[in-house]
Formats: sequence, C-alpha cells, structure tokens
Amino acid sequence: MGLNFIFTVDGDWDEYFYDKLPKCKRRPDKKHLLGLIKREVKIARSINGKILHFVHTSPVTREYFLQPDFVALWKKIEKKGGSIGVHCHEEGLFNHGKLEDPSKLEQSIHSITVPLRDKGLNLISYRGGYLTFCKSIIPILEKNGIILDFSCSSGRYLHYKGKLIADWRGAPKNYYHMCYHDHRKEGKSDVVEIPLGKLKQRALYIDITSLLDIWMVARHLARKERAIEGNMIVSLLTHTYEFSSWWKRLKIRAVLFICSRYGGFISDKEVLDIIRHKRGAGKI
Ligand SMILES: [Zn+2]
Repeated sequence: MGLNFIFTVDGDWDEYFYDKLPKCKRRPDKKHLLGLIKREVKIARSINGKILHFVHTSPVTREYFLQPDFVALWKKIEKKGGSIGVHCHEEGLFNHGKLEDPSKLEQSIHSITVPLRDKGLNLISYRGGYLTFCKSIIPILEKNGIILDFSCSSGRYLHYKGKLIADWRGAPKNYYHMCYHDHRKEGKSDVVEIPLGKLKQRALYIDITSLLDIWMVARHLARKERAIEGNMIVSLLTHTYEFSSWWKRLKIRAVLFICSRYGGFISDKEVLDIIRHKRGAGKI
C-alpha cells in the first residue's frame, strides 16, 4: 500500500500553440527541442529515471519524433528506467465532448505506436492533447495495446474554439478501470485511468501551480492514502517547453523533491504490477 506518483512530461513546444500561424511555422526547432528533452532525462535522475515522456503527434508534425536523434532519446529514457507514451493533439476532432471521427484518432495513435514498437520501444500509455477524452476512445486504446490513460484532471470542463472538448466532471481522483459507457466512471474496460493528483482546484500541474500548493496537494494525497484501503496512483504534469529556463527547471526539481517526501515515483510499467496485484486480491 502506498502513494505512487508518475512524473509525466507532454512533449510539446511553444510554437505548436500559436494556432494563428501557418503549419510550417508551428513546427519545432529540432536542436532546441533535443536539448530540452536531454534536460528532462537529466532531471529525472533524481527519481531514478522514472519519467514518462509523451511523444507528440498532430497534423502539424505527424512523424517528426520518429527521426533517429529523437528515437535515440526515447531509448535512453527506457534504458534509464522511464517510458514513453503517445500524446495525440487531435483536439480538432472533438465536438460537444465527443470524438467525431474515431478512425482519424486511431490513425494518429498508429502513426506513433507502430513505428516506435518496431524499433523496440514499449508503449502502453496515452494522453490526449488538452486532456481531451471521451468513451469512444476506450476501445481504440484497447485494440492498440494502450492500457493506461493519463488524460483525466477530475472536474475539468474545457471549451476550445467554442466547442466542448474535455469533460472530467465527477471523475475519481485515484486510479480506476474505465467504464465503456462513461469514461468518468469505474467499470470493466482494460484501460486504467491515472488521474492528475488533485485537491479541489489545486493540481500537480507543475507549470501553473505554486510550490506551496504542490506541497498542500502532496500532503493531502498522503493523508488520503492512509485513510483508504489500497494504493493511490496519480500523475504530475509538465511540458517539454518548461525545461527551457533554469528557474523553471529548479521548480521542477523542487516539486519532485516535495512529492518524494510523501510518496514514491514509479514507472508506467510498475503501475501494471500494482493493478495486477489488486485484481488478484479480488478488490476490483
Ligand atoms: Zn499537449
């Protein structure tokens, strides 16, 4: 039993979010981005390399991160004890909280998982861009061997360009097997949701949360874990672009230190051991 954290980094860069620019101007600078990802690996040393880096794919850069220099870094992350996952920025496919074209999302997942698995990497985790998700994604993930989802921030209700794209109202704040009929409820699918660590509006969303609030959330989660039967597994979230300045990196280091006072960092593969153990004990 224990409080388990997963340190996740969404592999996005600043220019991607300048959506008024043409596609070619929203692409990343390769040299700069490689440098930032190397810093992620370096900082993750303080937690035994247990970083989960989500590889970005989107209509802007469909196969950019399959270049050999990046693949070498993904392999290094795995070798040091971490993992890579899939981060699909397909927010344009959502409307009224529903995925309008599941086949397009499936192609997006394929575009990363198939070539990277062919190169020997082991991908089991997914996070939607802008934390988008809906129930029709669950069977797509199952079919593609993705068994962990990290898109949940309990209570999130996000509109983007006038459309509802993420609805996590009422979702659990600890890990759960998702329900095929409602992604915010516990159910019988094989996909396990690992939510962002939260205390009301405060979240382990490093980029926008003060160190004091991070400390309050971590302390709250530790207390909650002691009060329940079983484990807690939650994620911390930051982005690759946050590794650009020394003071942001210092903050990330401080967050990892604070959380490690209250719980342990695990990899996504280690989540499977915890879940199997719990299922075996007949508690789910
Ligand atoms: Zn993103």
